[in-house]
Amino acid sequence: MPQHPLSTPPPVLGPVVDGQTRCVHYRTELDIVAIRFACCGDYYPCHLCHAEVAGHDSSPWPIEARSARAVLCGVCGDELSIAEYLEVTACPSCASSFNPGCALHAHLYFEVEPSSREGALPVVTTVSAARSPTAPSSST
Ligand SMILES: [Zn+2]
Ligand SMILES: [Zn+2]
Ligand SMILES: [Zn+2]
Repeated sequence: MPQHPLSTPPPVLGPVVDGQTRCVHYRTELDIVAIRFACCGDYYPCHLCHAEVAGHDSSPWPIEARSARAVLCGVCGDELSIAEYLEVTACPSCASSFNPGCALHAHLYFEVEPSSREGALPVVTTVSAARSPTAPSSST
């Protein structure tokens, strides 16, 4: 029997293929975390599992919810807060490495800080077009 932590880890829904939350979509050595979804509060191994099984669109955790325990280490069953998870590359409890590729999809699960400020956005300006030869009728 695998040794279990103090409490039973929460159930992980979806097409899980083993006891460490790997699923039919992500099943490499490093795919050991499950994410609790903000929309339904259930753990799924990945966003694809949620899409297939939950029957509703997922909604990411808001930035204010960084302290929510929403990440489950499939190896030791420990739950991390979102903030913790985003800062580490391995489980703080059992030192199992997390998949660095997961960071690429973090925005699917957690709202991220807007990386581009207003100034960085392409500013669509119509000022130059306003001075057209055919001036709109000036008021009489
Ligand atoms: Zn959901
Ligand atoms: Zn999956
Ligand atoms: Zn762990």
